[in-house]
Amino acid sequence: MPRKTLIDSAKIYKCGICGFGYKDEDMAQKCQAWCSEHKSCNLQITKNAIYFPK
Ligand SMILES: [Zn+2]
Repeated sequence: MPRKTLIDSAKIYKCGICGFGYKDEDMAQKCQAWCSEHKSCNLQITKNAIYFPK
């Protein structure tokens, strides 16, 4: 399950693997599923990210 975090008081769902954050839990889950399977990021998914790990 993606982790729910608060960043700048906005609810963000973070992919537990790559750390990208989404405002949509569904997206975060897709990202996490992709990441664990492919060990890389899917640009189609990460373009929807609203939070980027440092
Ligand atoms: Zn991911």
